[in-house]
Amino acid sequence: MFWEKYPYTTIKTKVFEALSKNTNYRSETVLGIPGTFLDTDIFYEDAPFLRDAPFLSTLIANPNHIGVHTLGDEHEEFFAGTQEIEKDLIKICAEEIFGAEPHEYDGYVASGGTEANIQALWIYRNYFRKQYNAGNEDIVVIYSKDTHYSIPKGLDVLNLQGIEIAVDDVSREIKMKDLEEKIEDALTAGYKYFIVNVNMSTTMFGSVDDIEKITNLLNLLHLNYKLHVDAAYGGFIYPFTCQNNFFSFKNKNVSSFSIDGHKMLQAPYGTGIFLIRKGYMHYTLTDEAAYVKGKDYTLVGSRSGANAVCVWMILRIHGSMGWSVKMHQLLDKTSFICEKLKEWGVDFYRHPNLNIIAIRSKYMSVELAEKYNLVPDQHNTKAQWYKIVVMPHVKQGLIDNFLNEFKTDLNRMK
Ligand SMILES: *Cc1c(COP(=O)(O)O)cnc(C)c1O
Repeated sequence: MFWEKYPYTTIKTKVFEALSKNTNYRSETVLGIPGTFLDTDIFYEDAPFLRDAPFLSTLIANPNHIGVHTLGDEHEEFFAGTQEIEKDLIKICAEEIFGAEPHEYDGYVASGGTEANIQALWIYRNYFRKQYNAGNEDIVVIYSKDTHYSIPKGLDVLNLQGIEIAVDDVSREIKMKDLEEKIEDALTAGYKYFIVNVNMSTTMFGSVDDIEKITNLLNLLHLNYKLHVDAAYGGFIYPFTCQNNFFSFKNKNVSSFSIDGHKMLQAPYGTGIFLIRKGYMHYTLTDEAAYVKGKDYTLVGSRSGANAVCVWMILRIHGSMGWSVKMHQLLDKTSFICEKLKEWGVDFYRHPNLNIIAIRSKYMSVELAEKYNLVPDQHNTKAQWYKIVVMPHVKQGLIDNFLNEFKTDLNRMK
């Protein structure tokens, strides 16, 4: 995995160059587009600092990145400059982070992991409908109990059936026996086509599904399936902290990924990334989108070009090595906390390549959990777990204060 780090001046030059290739609402004859620059009473374009602020300048110019720009078919020329930057961003994610071959993938910057996950379900549903003449009643979606709720949300939107697979309470791994039994039941019930979601880090635990075990079983049973990887949380950390894993386009069992820029990557909200092997995007082509020259294949429609530019800027300022160092620093901090918890006999779950620690609630007073804004696994009934997420704002001082208070708390409980 490698992508070059650019100095800030290079990033700035490239973004301004891209902007100059976009259609400019201020200086060109634009009469037919229902879009324009941002409101000038709030976002005045002559602020002197904008010359040094490529992201804000893109935000104000307000390019629309509607559509998918990796397809290489006809596309809107209006914002071709910044759309090229999005293509470089998708290239970095697909080729460098997830091992795709050049030109063997499509992708776009979605509104978030939710949209990217639903986009995947939507594509595979239509794929089975079109290729196999399947009805919704022939298709089933398989996912673990620790899966993000955007998958059940997607089932509701797309009118699909789902099967939830149990996970082990301690290891958080999918129970293979339950998976096998539920697949047998599904086959007996008449389901013929399977959409399988695997998690490259769950939101609550940071657990990573054993993709090899799962796909070995699916292949052994000769299921007709498509496999999506929900890497919304883990996509910008796990590939850097655990190299040579099976979550890659090199793994022929995998068809698509969701990755959130607005989680580990510290990009603004609205920066989910959807990646899929070539040859699938057209299953969600909306023929009626006649006025969009590049056609529309996405759930979202119009979307901000500034978001794509911003994710690209973050990846480019660090380069792959810089990003890797940053992610390892988070792991070190996480491990530091875990060492203490072990020393004190506290029961917790942590995946060694991730920065999430889920602590059993019996070790934690509600007051302390609330004071440090730890997130419970459930808000309605009594929490079983409280999680710590060691994000970049979590400094050693904060960790030390928390651990001190936690220790006092523990001693009091004993
Ligand atoms: C956050 C998250 C999502 C949903 O992403 P949004 O960006 O909030 O839409 C989906 N899956 C996982 C694993 C997540 O962590």
